[in-house]
Amino acid sequence: MRARRREGDRARGGSYGPGSAGRSAGLLLPEPGPAFRDIEQAHGLRTARVAFDSWRRASLEGAALLRRLNIRCGLEPVIPLIVAARDDEKTLRREFDARAKARVDGTWLTSKLLGKLTGPDAPAAIRMRDAFSLDPYRACLGLSAAAASRGAVIFERSRVKKVKVARRHVDVIAEGGTVRASTVIVTTGTASLEFRQLRRHFKRRESYLVLTESVPAAIRKQIGTRDTTFRDTRAASSSRAMDVRRPDSDCRCHAG
Ligand SMILES: Cc1cc2nc3c(=O)[nH]c(=O)nc-3n(C[C@H](O)[C@H](O)[C@H](O)COP(=O)(O)OP(=O)(O)OC[C@H]3O[C@@H](n4cnc5c(N)ncnc54)[C@H](O)[C@@H]3O)c2cc1C
Repeated sequence: MRARRREGDRARGGSYGPGSAGRSAGLLLPEPGPAFRDIEQAHGLRTARVAFDSWRRASLEGAALLRRLNIRCGLEPVIPLIVAARDDEKTLRREFDARAKARVDGTWLTSKLLGKLTGPDAPAAIRMRDAFSLDPYRACLGLSAAAASRGAVIFERSRVKKVKVARRHVDVIAEGGTVRASTVIVTTGTASLEFRQLRRHFKRRESYLVLTESVPAAIRKQIGTRDTTFRDTRAASSSRAMDVRRPDSDCRCHAG
């Protein structure tokens, strides 16, 4: 049952990184997505600070790990921005003030400063640090290979049908064999059919990724340079994560 990676697997997308991890927008961002004020309102100041602090650390540590392991995945720093939607500077200012009060990283940029940064065309923005872009599939392959070279055993194409929990062990029943272990960590991304009892805790929401055709110069100017990624106040305050960036030399846009 122990499977090995084959060249053909890589070319077809194979069994490494077939989930969202290998197909995401490839952004390591320093914050979770929803507005700080919304998280603070729902869970309190302390929790909101912990969430933002740990997200930033995770982004930095993720990038450091990829560098340390020398994984070639096009890792590059990007400037993450939250921009004010037109006529919505007040909402952004309130968000900035809440972050500043909680000592969460962020710099206020006026429209003029934003223009100097060649960021997107907007009345104001919050600029953060510690964000990166990468090729998520290559990162996924690199991390798998690094884990395998350190002794991890990777089973591909082995769909788990059931997990049976006994007092002293856990049986993972897969197509083609059973693995007995002392502990199992489930990383299926969501509660899949095999874990019916957990499904009610998850709500399915739409997610998408859009890659445009090459955009004309006039629109390119509104979007900013390749090394920026941004969301606007409407996305940040409604917990819809929508990041836009220019990922390639053809000036196509990536939004997700
Ligand atoms: C369009 C889109 C863009 C995104 N962009 C970003 C981004 O830029 N930055 C960011 O940080 N996050 C992004 N995300 C979110 C991020 O991709 C996910 O949070 C992350 O990939 C989840 O990783 P995971 O390992 O938990 O799940 P997954 O990557 O989904 O992995 C789950 C794995 O479990 C396997 N599996 C499922 N059921 C079974 C079974 N019964 N037996 C065996 N194996 C099973 C699947 O095959 C899969 O390989 C994006 C998500 C989407 C959808």
